[in-house]
Amino acid sequence: MAERVYNFNPGPSTLPVSVLEEAQRELVNFKNTGMSIMEISHRSKEYEEVQNETESLFKELLKAPAGYRVLFMGGGASAQFALVPMNFLTAGTEADYIISGSFAEKAYEEATRIGKVNIAASTKGTNFDRLPEAGSISLSKSPVYVHLTSNNTIYGTQWHKFPDLKEVDVVADMSSDILSREIDVSQFSLIYAGAQKNLGPAGVTVVLLNPAFLAKANANLPVIFQYGTFVKNNSLYNTPPSFAIYIMNLFLKWVKNNGGLAGIEARNKEKAAIVYNAIDNSGGFYKGHAQKDCRSLMNVTFRLPNEQLEETFAGETKKAGLVGLKGHRSVGGMRASIYNAMPVEGCKALAELMKDFQKRNG
Ligand SMILES: *Cc1c(COP(=O)(O)O)cnc(C)c1O
Repeated sequence: MAERVYNFNPGPSTLPVSVLEEAQRELVNFKNTGMSIMEISHRSKEYEEVQNETESLFKELLKAPAGYRVLFMGGGASAQFALVPMNFLTAGTEADYIISGSFAEKAYEEATRIGKVNIAASTKGTNFDRLPEAGSISLSKSPVYVHLTSNNTIYGTQWHKFPDLKEVDVVADMSSDILSREIDVSQFSLIYAGAQKNLGPAGVTVVLLNPAFLAKANANLPVIFQYGTFVKNNSLYNTPPSFAIYIMNLFLKWVKNNGGLAGIEARNKEKAAIVYNAIDNSGGFYKGHAQKDCRSLMNVTFRLPNEQLEETFAGETKKAGLVGLKGHRSVGGMRASIYNAMPVEGCKALAELMKDFQKRNG
C-alpha cells in the first residue's frame, strides 16, 4: 500500500489519520454491539448517544447560543440552496443575496425559482477575486433574510469580518470554513455546511438554526422539506446518514483535543501564512487570485507564469505525494485546500516544493 499523501483536494477532503484509525478499530464491532455503527438502528440507544453527543459537541465548539438547534440533513449544501428559500421566502417577502462566488450564485438561482430575490452585492465583475466592501452592500427594504457565503471555495476568498447587516436575519453557507475559526454564532439565524470539507465525510449537512427564525417558516411544504420537521424529531424523522454523523463525532473530538476553535484557528493561520509567503516571496512567479485582504485561510488559489508550467507543477507535486492541487476551471492554475485536518507539515512540504520548482523553472 502506498503511504498516506498530503491531500489538498477541495472536497471531499483530508481527514485526521487518528479519526480514520479510530473508525477502523470500531468498524466491525461498535461498542460491543457485535455490529458496525452502519448496521445498527438509528433508534438504538447506542446510535442516539452518538448523535446527541455530536450535536452538543458542535454547539460547544462553536459556543452557539443555548437555544440554537443542530440539524443533520441530507442533500449537501446544494439542497440547502433550495430549502432555505422554500422555507423562508414566503409569499409577499423578498430575500437578498450577496454573490461572492459560484456557490453563492447557485444559491441565488435556486431562490429565484421560489420567490422574489435581490442581489445585494456581487463581485462577479472581477471573477470573484474579492468580497464586496461593506459600504457597497445594498439591502432591500425589509428582506426576510440575507444570504452570504463565508468562504468562497473556488476563488479562495473569505470574510474576515462579516458585514454588519443590523437587524436582518442572516443565512450563511459555511461549507468550506465551518469550525475553522472562532465566530459569533449569534449574528446568524441559520448556518449550513456540507460536512465533506471541514467536518467529516460527504453525506451529512449540518444546519445550525435559531428557533426564533424558524417561527417565520412556511408550514405548507411537504414535511420532509421543512426545517421544523427536523427540529421536532431531533433529526430522526427519517433515517439520518448515521455513518457520516459518527465520523463527524470523531472529528469534533479531534478538534476539541487540538485546542478547540482557538487552537484550530491559530494553526489554520500558521498554515495559510506558510503557503501565502511562498507566493508573496516568489517575486511574481506565483500570483495569487484573491486580493490580499480577502485571502482565504482554507483555499489558496494561485497561478504560475503559464499553463505549461502549471501542468508540470501539478505533475511534480503529485509525484512528491502532494495531491489534489489543480485549481477549478473557472480560475485555472492551482488551489491548495488546507482545511482543518491538513497538517502544518503538508503546507511546509508544499511551500518547499514551490521554492524548489521556481528555482528550476523561474
Ligand atoms: C462544496 C460547496 C458547496 C456544495 O456542496 P455539496 O455538498 O456538493 O452540495 C456549497 N457551498 C460551498 C461554499 C461549498 O464549498
